[in-house]
Amino acid sequence: MLGTYVEELGALGETPDGMYRFMYDEAWQQARDALLRWIDDAGLEGRVDAVGNVFGRLPGSGDGVVLTGSHVDTVPSGGKYDGALGVVGGLAALAALRAQHGTPVRTLEVVALCEEESSRFPANFFGTRGMLGLIAPDEPDRLRDREGVLLADAMRQAGLDPAAVASAERHDLRAFLELHIEQGRVLADEGVDVGLVEVIPGIAWETVTVRGRQDHAGATPMDLRRDALQAAAQMAREITTAVEQEGRPAVVTTGRWTVEPGQPSIVPGLARFSVDLRHPDLGVRDRLLDTVHRICATVAERHGVEVEIVRDKDEEPATMDADLLDVLRGSAEECGASWRRMPSGAGHDSQLMASRVPTAMVFVPSVEGRSHTPAEYTSPADCVRGASVLATALHHLAW
Ligand SMILES: [Zn+2]
Repeated sequence: MLGTYVEELGALGETPDGMYRFMYDEAWQQARDALLRWIDDAGLEGRVDAVGNVFGRLPGSGDGVVLTGSHVDTVPSGGKYDGALGVVGGLAALAALRAQHGTPVRTLEVVALCEEESSRFPANFFGTRGMLGLIAPDEPDRLRDREGVLLADAMRQAGLDPAAVASAERHDLRAFLELHIEQGRVLADEGVDVGLVEVIPGIAWETVTVRGRQDHAGATPMDLRRDALQAAAQMAREITTAVEQEGRPAVVTTGRWTVEPGQPSIVPGLARFSVDLRHPDLGVRDRLLDTVHRICATVAERHGVEVEIVRDKDEEPATMDADLLDVLRGSAEECGASWRRMPSGAGHDSQLMASRVPTAMVFVPSVEGRSHTPAEYTSPADCVRGASVLATALHHLAW
């Protein structure tokens, strides 16, 4: 059943260039409808909330809700497993638990969160934010996609009422468990079955702007130039080397570049690049940021250019719930799965959920650590093992 779900969901939004399934678009609506069908087939109660999160509910005899799930949207040119596995894995888990054990004490729900990746609208974690009451009232009438479509109009087009967003907030959640592919290669390299995520690193984003002097590419001798791009490139090189020397799990990426005026015959007067720096230990991350700033200042002085650094994002690391991690560890052992504790490399809905609800994540191996690419793959055996560990944990929590 799980393999069929993965394939059928993976066909919605699939192109020769990978997955394109963005919040409220046609493929997303097809996925919502398919999930509601599967939820109904599994004997669960289906529901779509005001922001488009899809729920399958197995009502319990007592209070409180134990929630599992992940996001249903993809990055551009994405894979079939990121997010999707946690949705269909949760659905398969609830279906199996209902068939085997009937009515739980605590209500169990699986959720397909409408948005995690910010692929279409600058509305990161829209689904989780909806559930936690963290969507600003003006967002639907303010945010637009690249084609200029207003978020509110896209919601209406998907059958949702943008004025009702606040009603998506939940106060009955007692726990959240998210099954997800690792998206890195730790588990695959070590031959470990599942990863129990202890912490999701806070991301620091900075924009480095370097101002030199715009000059003629033919008439300006090399020794008289103040080339903004060459200085910026040197900064990026030295920043990367410093983080390489720090070693795992520190990572830095300088992925977005602007060069002005960006002409072959002009010495660049301005270069701007992004810095994405992550480490699960906030102290180490901040020390590395200091190193970044020192490198930029030193290189700028050497090249006779000016540098300005702006902090765009500064997230705290999210710690997963210790009791839930114990439940997951016990469940892994009951399933005969080898496990290790680990930090997450990527960001996840769980990092936000953890701010309000006891939360934990379980990872399964990504072949060669590939993710956010059509090459993303997790073996059927690993998918099933992850869903089994999840189902065992949900059984402990809800019965
Ligand atoms: Zn994901």
